Amino acid sequence: MLRESFFFLFIISVSLVNAQQTFHKTTLLMGSRFDITVVAENKEEGNAFIDTAIAEITRIEKLISSWDSASQTSEINQYAGIRAVKVDKELFELISRAIAISEITDGAFDISYASMDRIWKFDGSMTTMPSPEEVQKSLGKVGFENIILDTQNQTVFLAEKGMKISFGAIGKGYAADKAKQLLIEKGVTAGIINASGDMNTWGKQANGKEWTVAITNPMNKNNAFAILPLKQGAVVTSGDYEKFVEFNGIRYAHIINPKTGYPATGIISVTVFAPSAELADALATAVFVLGKDVGLDRINQLPNVECIIIDDKGTINKSEHIKINEE
Ligand code: ADP
Ligand code: MG
Repeated sequence: MLRESFFFLFIISVSLVNAQQTFHKTTLLMGSRFDITVVAENKEEGNAFIDTAIAEITRIEKLISSWDSASQTSEINQYAGIRAVKVDKELFELISRAIAISEITDGAFDISYASMDRIWKFDGSMTTMPSPEEVQKSLGKVGFENIILDTQNQTVFLAEKGMKISFGAIGKGYAADKAKQLLIEKGVTAGIINASGDMNTWGKQANGKEWTVAITNPMNKNNAFAILPLKQGAVVTSGDYEKFVEFNGIRYAHIINPKTGYPATGIISVTVFAPSAELADALATAVFVLGKDVGLDRINQLPNVECIIIDDKGTINKSEHIKINEE
């Protein structure tokens, strides 16, 4: 009898494994397209997991959005040059990590780049370049050294009036990490959070295979030049082919060099592999600013981080440990 029920249990567990399916939803969050994929046993369970992820991303958006005037981030901006603002631990820690990334990228990644949004617009509304005087004036409000953190009181103070922070280059990655973490806590064995190209995976596909990511050359989008396995990590692509402006034949990406006040040029796409989507997201933006040579050099010094850079000539450059040709 015991043996019989044992056998029965065995059959059940096998059929459960076989019953794992992949469920998927595309939705608009944080002003971007999010594709959420989970492996679950049935549709109800799959949908419930996806809803959990959506609720988590929505929660984060409320905290970090600089568009939403009710967010703590907007409050920090509103009191720039006036007073320190007390924030949630989560936001305080995100800002601390953002400053740490500024430090390892010589300020190429800087959440205080955001006051430049007032003079550079990449939504098609810009018809002339801002004057050098305008650029200089805005530049005076940029600088992560002027983001003053008080750990004891958990406050953030932007030291200059008119200063502004924004999480445009790290927020989607952070949200993807948090949604993944929450789903893992809920027992979801595998999935992908894809925030418009900021991808974070865990576990394996329902068929037991590793998740993979196709890397395309923006100059030839229909043709992936590499398909790479993504084991527990994140991959993020920052490209200038969606948001850019052109003046006098020069293409300016929507990523601003915080040192010069002008948008980065010379690179059309950067893909970064890293343990977290947050780090990958921020570093992809930083490499755009640092340029191909300094960017590669910096990535090669960081453990567990790799990158692929496509420059404006269409040349593919990769960090030391990427093995594309093995595919
Ligand atoms: P995408 O939005 O295409 O995923 P990124 O992750 O590189 O690309 O983020 C670009 C966004 O980051 C810009 O739209 C802007 O909001 C913000 N940003 C621009 N320049 C910088 C910079 N030097 N440091 C930090 N954030 C930046
Ligand atoms: Mg980024």
